[in-house]
Amino acid sequence: MVLLTRDPDPEESNTRYAQGGIVSRGPDDNAESLVADILAAGAGASSPQAARLLAEEGPRLVEEVLVRVAGVEFDRAPEGGLAWGTEAAHSHRRILHVGDTTGRAIAAALMAQVRACPNVRLVTQATAIDLITFPHHNRDPLAAYRPISCHGAYAFDRRERTVHRYLAAATILATGGLGRIYRNTTNAPGARGDGLAMAHRAGARIGNAEYVQFHPTALAAPGAEGFLISEAVRGEGGRLLSPDGRPFMEEHAPEWKDLAPRDIVARAIVLEMETHGYSHVMLDLASSMSPEAIRARFPSIYQRCLQAGFDLSHEPVPVVPAAHYFCGGVLVDEWGRSSVQNLYAIGEVSCTGLHGANRLASTSLLEGLVWGTRAAQHLEDGFLRGEIDRPPPAEAIPRWDETGLVAEPDPTLIQGDMQTIQSLMWNYVGLVRSPEGLSRAIRELRHLLNEIETFYRATKLSDGLIGLRNAVEAALIVAEAARHNRQSRGCHYRRDATQAEGDRLI
Ligand SMILES: Cc1cc2nc3c(=O)[nH]c(=O)nc-3n(C[C@H](O)[C@H](O)[C@H](O)COP(=O)(O)OP(=O)(O)OC[C@H]3O[C@@H](n4cnc5c(N)ncnc54)[C@H](O)[C@@H]3O)c2cc1C
Repeated sequence: MVLLTRDPDPEESNTRYAQGGIVSRGPDDNAESLVADILAAGAGASSPQAARLLAEEGPRLVEEVLVRVAGVEFDRAPEGGLAWGTEAAHSHRRILHVGDTTGRAIAAALMAQVRACPNVRLVTQATAIDLITFPHHNRDPLAAYRPISCHGAYAFDRRERTVHRYLAAATILATGGLGRIYRNTTNAPGARGDGLAMAHRAGARIGNAEYVQFHPTALAAPGAEGFLISEAVRGEGGRLLSPDGRPFMEEHAPEWKDLAPRDIVARAIVLEMETHGYSHVMLDLASSMSPEAIRARFPSIYQRCLQAGFDLSHEPVPVVPAAHYFCGGVLVDEWGRSSVQNLYAIGEVSCTGLHGANRLASTSLLEGLVWGTRAAQHLEDGFLRGEIDRPPPAEAIPRWDETGLVAEPDPTLIQGDMQTIQSLMWNYVGLVRSPEGLSRAIRELRHLLNEIETFYRATKLSDGLIGLRNAVEAALIVAEAARHNRQSRGCHYRRDATQAEGDRLI
């Protein structure tokens, strides 16, 4: 088994930056209640089957895989039991955490398990470029009449600057989200939509791509842009204030106030910023929690704010919304199988249907755990039953063709184009969308896609160039889905549409 990852550090990922925690089953809680909360957050577009699967299987897997096998030590209450947290739109305390660095603890524990597996080869600094699929990469012309199937990937070795073929009986995409196609984002540098674009080029079905969740509260301090101030801060009593100290969430969401679902909070902040010309709003925790409790519950958020010049334990901190989570992705079934044979997608790159039009906080880590385990189970069963073919012979797959790739990749050009994509997405395919803005974004992104494709066909590969090509394709997928869906729902909000029935209004 080969595990490829583009960064030198295999733990570098969105998983590592998850703060709030992972949903499980708290005291007095039950699966029905979690299903109801997921469906309510998903604004009528979440798959009830997916929600049930997560709510029923998830808590057992947290215990079996994360606690017993990987040894993750979730925080405990002073009396010794697990410390259950809450976040926006959860009706029970059911979130497990490790301080405010839950993702770091989970990523480190799982990676230690991977390293201890003798049958797993971990290859770092290997950026997957494209999936190897039939009929696209098959020399046999009759392959055109068979269903599309995946047989591995071409990957760029960043150290040697060469391309290797990795042939596989089954391929699992776990490349994460696409926050980096937006100007403001909480996401890690690798979240450029690589897996989404690769699967799209291979012909896989994509779903719910218009639903990009924006986190309401990223730090708005120079040098610390995009640093996430967890929703758990509002869960513990934090309140949003205008820069002159006026609490405003009650006006926008009287029922939930500061604990409203994140799309509502994020749009309320944008509305406040647009109406009053604010560059940011403030988040105040110091008025509702003691300095000692803040430092104990949110040590890394406290430290990061302090480095940026703000003492969270004594004063409000400046925040803005930022692109945070991709609810759509490569459509998969309950085993993580995509519409392409032998291709699975797990985690944020996938669309299991769980999140619908909006994600309930802290459900994505658990989604990765549940569907990851299910995909592994499905593959194991398939191998045992002899239902999965061996990888194709190397002679059947062409080597990577580098003919004509003569130009050196120009980092300035790559960065410039990336910034153009990020601005287009932020301005026209962001929190509030309009038909004119979406059309404009699509026109410009199509032009850019052609330019980048021409440049890509003549330039030696680099990780940045691969990411740029994927980012523009991912951006177009999102923009086109947003233009196609004329109904505001969940985190897809159009100025020209009425809100979908049953969805919340702000
Ligand atoms: C700041 C922040 C806080 C969050 N907090 C929470 C939380 O509290 N609870 C929760 O449930 N969720 C949270 N989320 C969401 C959650 O962390 C992610 O949805 C989840 O971790 C995604 O996991 P993943 O394995 O799909 O992707 P990732 O963890 O992002 O991993 C993807 C990996 O693929 C690599 N990769 C990408 N492209 C390529 C390529 N072409 N070739 C090779 N490798 C590639 C990346 O470098 C990365 O290592 C948070 C997200 C962020 C950004």
